[in-house]
Amino acid sequence: MKEKFYITTAIAYTSKKPHIGNTYEAVLTDAIARYKRLRGYDVYFLTGTDEHGQKIQQEAEAAGITPQAYVDKVAGEIKSIWDMFNVSYDKFIRTTDEEHVKCVQKIFNKLYEQGDIYKGTYEGNYCTPCESFWTDTQLVDGKCPDCGRECKKASEEAYFLKMSKYADRLVEYYNSHDEFITPVSRKNEMINNFIKPGLQDLCVSRTSFTWGIPVTFDERHVTYVWLDALSNYITAIGFDIDNPSELYKKLWPADVQVIGKDIVRFHTIYWPIILMALGLPLPKQILAHPWLLSGIDKMSKSRGNVIYGDDLIAQFGLDPVRHYLLAEMGYYNDGSITYENLIKRTNSDLANVLGNLVSRTGAMIKQYFGGVIPKNSGNDDEFAVSLKTAIKEGFADTVAKYDKYLLADADAAIFNTLKACNKYIDETTPWVLAKNPEKKQALADVLSNLVESIRICNILLEPLMPDTAKKINAIFNVPEQNFESARDYNYCCEGVTLGEIPILFARIDEKKLLAEIEAKEKEAKKSAKEAEKNKKKSEKTDEKTEIIGIEDFAKVDLRVGIIKECVKAENSDKLLVLQIDMGGEIRQVVSGIAKYYTPEELIGKKVIVVSNLKPVKLRGIDSNGMILAADTENGVKVIFADENANPGSKVR
Ligand SMILES: [Zn+2]
Repeated sequence: MKEKFYITTAIAYTSKKPHIGNTYEAVLTDAIARYKRLRGYDVYFLTGTDEHGQKIQQEAEAAGITPQAYVDKVAGEIKSIWDMFNVSYDKFIRTTDEEHVKCVQKIFNKLYEQGDIYKGTYEGNYCTPCESFWTDTQLVDGKCPDCGRECKKASEEAYFLKMSKYADRLVEYYNSHDEFITPVSRKNEMINNFIKPGLQDLCVSRTSFTWGIPVTFDERHVTYVWLDALSNYITAIGFDIDNPSELYKKLWPADVQVIGKDIVRFHTIYWPIILMALGLPLPKQILAHPWLLSGIDKMSKSRGNVIYGDDLIAQFGLDPVRHYLLAEMGYYNDGSITYENLIKRTNSDLANVLGNLVSRTGAMIKQYFGGVIPKNSGNDDEFAVSLKTAIKEGFADTVAKYDKYLLADADAAIFNTLKACNKYIDETTPWVLAKNPEKKQALADVLSNLVESIRICNILLEPLMPDTAKKINAIFNVPEQNFESARDYNYCCEGVTLGEIPILFARIDEKKLLAEIEAKEKEAKKSAKEAEKNKKKSEKTDEKTEIIGIEDFAKVDLRVGIIKECVKAENSDKLLVLQIDMGGEIRQVVSGIAKYYTPEELIGKKVIVVSNLKPVKLRGIDSNGMILAADTENGVKVIFADENANPGSKVR
């Protein structure tokens, strides 16, 4: 039977759309989950959203909607961004889920009945944006230690969870479980800063706002953040005080809980104490990652330096962004994200090293062997011997790094190995061998060694860049692979005919792209202003269509195309993927019309295509153009062209 592996992210707070720094954690956890699956574990990956609290109540009031409607919207955004990033979670929990709410109420009642929760008065320095009370000693220069804002003195009736009762047992657990807090430097921080000075009891209820889980025996109170939020890790898998589910019994305790370094205290002090009070086992490992910063600052909506993941994917494609996040973030220091570095890494690692290796190897097999991967003679020359050594050492190095969840180091090890493959091409100069018919077998050996080396590296690459790994496997028609097959050369692709060789990563023109991004940001600011103006205008007059000149219309290149192929997108019930003949050139266009047309209805039809639209990726699928359609009362209707219009004709 497969060994279970239960991994979680912290749940994302639904006060605002998540920025790329928040998204990083989901991607990091995903890469670990994928690695563990690759290693044969029965992985269960939990993520989700934290949906209660004063801040959300305030945001909802400002937006003029109910808190539930507000969190539905933001949770939807978060989930769709996680999906866009290929985050392979098994469950997405929301703390407004009914099962969660009921379970938290039961936990609260049990802890109250057994005397671990008591009623008292909360007095302290309160930071409203952070929803945190701080003791005098915790303030930094009299201000909130988390956000640096002014705090105010406040007091209210509240329930508290007894903490100090469990302090000794907690330290004992730390000391007998070396990996519990990773990195270990955080352990001493917890002991010296929080446990030794004496643990403060934890406030677990509030009366100053209502958007929370009600305390059943005292309805003026709602459960305050941590008891509610932390419990998600067990409620999501069916924990119940009286009757825990089979899934819970199988999965708990969690193997790894991934969190940001700012919430270590909550996960290594409060969370274990809640579990101890409930008589439950503690998680095996809390893995705290550093922050992803924008330029030099921690990203923050109030500071206006926010970069969003969906924007980055639209600009760069999915895997360059995933790769950047995973490769740039070491384990001990904060990483940063800038467009310049993202472009550099994409060009150097992805286009120059990986993309170049794959396309050169594929192109040479097409050119010299008619696209059929040649057989290896088994006679390794000195270059082949050193290549194989580099691959085997690279494999061992990568696995060692993955096993410690040092993903940036694992990534570096893989790319070092890929560089050894490019070096092998330079050393063996296959284009020279190709000129000499007597060297045909030597040439075959070089290319088959390259395919094997790429196959092995690609298995290790999959947790980091799953889409790219899939594409590379498709190019070399690699049969189904497992981790064990990456340990050695087995030449399983011999005699196989290559598939299409797409450009995996186009080199980015840094100057041009940066100028485009700047222009776009300006444009966005301008149109936000204009939208505001127009909104005011349209309140006075009826809706009017903007009048444009012929020169504006002429910018749009409309062409007739004929739909040659059409399939439903694998990962969406809204999208169809069309292959359109534009008069010689076949274009792939993704269109959101799957609800209105079946693929069969469209094949052979002539449509009008906006052909100079900037390429985008929809759900990870390249779309290179758009087909015209009308919004009608009965849904979307595609505009079909006259049957006498030839593909490629310009529409004016
Ligand atoms: Zn604060």
